[in-house]
Amino acid sequence: MRLSRYFLPVLKETPSEAQIVSHRYMLRAGMIKQASAGIYSWLPLGYKVLKRIEQIVHDEQVRAGHIPMLMPTLQSADLWRESGRYDDYGQEMLRIKDRHDRDMLYGPTNEELITDIFRSHVSSYKDLPLTLYHIQWKFRDEIRPRFGVMRGREFLMKDGYNFDLTKEDALHAYNRHLVSYLRSYERMGLQAIPMRADGGPIGGDYTHEFLVLAETGESEVFYDSEITDLKFGDRAIDYDSVEQCQAVLEEFTSRYARTDETHDEALFNLIPEARRRNARGIEVGQIFYFGTKYSDAMNATVQGPDGKATPVHMGSHGIGVSRLLGAIIEASHDDRGIIWPEGVTPFHCGIVNLKTGDAEADAACEAIYAALTALGLEPLYDDTDERAGGKFATMDLIGLPWRITVGPRGLKNGIVELTSRRTGESVELPPEQAIERIA
Ligand code: ATP
Ligand code: MG
Ligand code: MG
Ligand code: MG
Repeated sequence: MRLSRYFLPVLKETPSEAQIVSHRYMLRAGMIKQASAGIYSWLPLGYKVLKRIEQIVHDEQVRAGHIPMLMPTLQSADLWRESGRYDDYGQEMLRIKDRHDRDMLYGPTNEELITDIFRSHVSSYKDLPLTLYHIQWKFRDEIRPRFGVMRGREFLMKDGYNFDLTKEDALHAYNRHLVSYLRSYERMGLQAIPMRADGGPIGGDYTHEFLVLAETGESEVFYDSEITDLKFGDRAIDYDSVEQCQAVLEEFTSRYARTDETHDEALFNLIPEARRRNARGIEVGQIFYFGTKYSDAMNATVQGPDGKATPVHMGSHGIGVSRLLGAIIEASHDDRGIIWPEGVTPFHCGIVNLKTGDAEADAACEAIYAALTALGLEPLYDDTDERAGGKFATMDLIGLPWRITVGPRGLKNGIVELTSRRTGESVELPPEQAIERIA
């Protein structure tokens, strides 16, 4: 992409309404624009990152054997009356009437809709196990939308639902989700720690929230510092193996790590004092096993091997796709701007032409642009005639991992400058070698 033809409305001033760094940088880098409270337009740069995060989530869900689909944003109130949640959900639910005076709502989550799909089409245990998911916009009329996309009213969520014959099978699905979430967050360059969370009115031990540690996080968390040494890494996993998935769950959840709702001071104090941490975190996902709550209420049964109708065991599993942009920026920035992890960066490399209009500089930039593109990479070429300082400031703000700086003086000696956004280190080298380092 050439910057002269792109739409990147960067702001010079720091917007006064933004209280936290991710919100400030997303506005300044021209990634989002507020449409109304907690509702955002995704401008091209923000949209690109959103799509990359979404793609990672898709990849890892499919890898785990889960099946993508798409449900609508608007739902009929009838199903929610069946489950009893139409009244329970309260003011966070946006309720709408259509022209025939029918009660509709903008879905805050999809347990009812998916259970209805399931009961309409599945009747035998032979069709289990089944995990369906979608990535779709949700609406929750949050009392205090704030921090930009972090607590929006309209937000993008991946939500997946497992249907199993037994509790045992459903817990395997739970574990698959835990593993696939660990992999997803790591691919985004994030550490998200599974923490024992509150089951809410449903209760039960089977729920974990994934938290990214950050001072601006809205959740208070307590954990054993050893947990931050754990990495899933690139180890192989067989998602069909109950033992392998269970082992990962045990590895990642055996140390103390809880949100404040489930915090137990006595247990916490058993950890050596030097390892006890009380910090803040951003909830970027949650997994949940809730048994037959919805299948009982909505009569979602299958015929078991014994011929009897049995309610299916279910769980639901969410990732805050749009919130993740904020969480990644909170975890990865400096005072000049965002530092995108390679896995989610909107462009792989910036090319800064120090003297647009200079025949040699222009030609060298074009050649680098073509070479990177041929390698399947996506560069952002600043071919505008802004002064060098402004070009650097924009590149630092939008946080691409690499910058290649091209100017007439360096070209006389056959060199360009390659700069790493993360370390700030620059090296001078011939263009071909700069390209090689990035690829
Ligand atoms: P929170 O505690 O932050 O209100 P939640 O527990 O109500 O979140 P879930 O129902 O668990 O949210 O939804 C799954 C994921 O969706 C959350 O882990 C979070 O990452 C994301 N999410 C929830 N509410 C919002 C919101 N208002 N804006 C952006 N993302 C959200
Ligand atoms: Mg909430
Ligand atoms: Mg929560
Ligand atoms: Mg939650």
